Amino acid sequence: MDETGASRTPPASDETAFPAYHAGRCGGLAELDAQLIRCRACPRLVAWREQTGARPRAAFRDWEYWARPVPGFGPSDAPLAVVGLAPAAHGGNRTGRMFTGDASGDFLFAALHAVGLASRPTATHRGDGLELYGVRVTSPVHCAPPENKPTPDERRTCRPWLAAELELLSPHLRAVLVLGAFGWQALLPVLGEAGWPLPRPRPAFGHGVRLTLPATENRRELQVLGSYHPSQRNTFTGRLTFEMLTALLSRAAGLAGLERPGG
Ligand code: SF4
Repeated sequence: MDETGASRTPPASDETAFPAYHAGRCGGLAELDAQLIRCRACPRLVAWREQTGARPRAAFRDWEYWARPVPGFGPSDAPLAVVGLAPAAHGGNRTGRMFTGDASGDFLFAALHAVGLASRPTATHRGDGLELYGVRVTSPVHCAPPENKPTPDERRTCRPWLAAELELLSPHLRAVLVLGAFGWQALLPVLGEAGWPLPRPRPAFGHGVRLTLPATENRRELQVLGSYHPSQRNTFTGRLTFEMLTALLSRAAGLAGLERPGG
């Protein structure tokens, strides 16, 4: 029933209303992920993820690409979230797991392992045995976009999925590390939608910038940290070194209360 008392037909998976309708009705992350991977609400991204899967890179020609929305990865009681922007066409869109299978992910998972937040330094595919300790890796847009650039409308359409994921994580969530300026711009409205009060004006992104979102009746205080994205452009040029990323991950883990991650 809607607010007028009339019954409402659930939107189809290719309707813009699909994420907003389903995301908030999920009682746990497994249910959320099951609904998410049905989503076809952004026609441009659906076409791109499927076209990419139909035309694999030579190095991956034996792969059957995932070519669907990519769910978050990590435990449901994680006190720390690491948030990028969107899966890569031949990375997460191929393997079906966030940051898995591309150079950015290789850098990130090696860093997570170095600070005790991952069971191993490499991530290759779903079911490779990798475990994360106290951290969930996710993104505000769940389908690979052309040129890694989702439009504002696509970011808005996808927002309910991450808002619901943060809602489900919120009893334990204490800190978020955001990778890159685009992720920062996309995440702040999601945090607002998920119930945390945002400062005005919104603070600008920077490597090492820290934002404290105050507790409310329904939300505990949340620490938000910015990090340069582990893109090849940043890591090859030394803009983001391994030591810089592990230092920020350690700081974020400390803020999340993960004094002995993996222990
Ligand atoms: Fe659905 Fe998000 Fe993918 Fe758009 S980007 S189709 S809202 S999962």
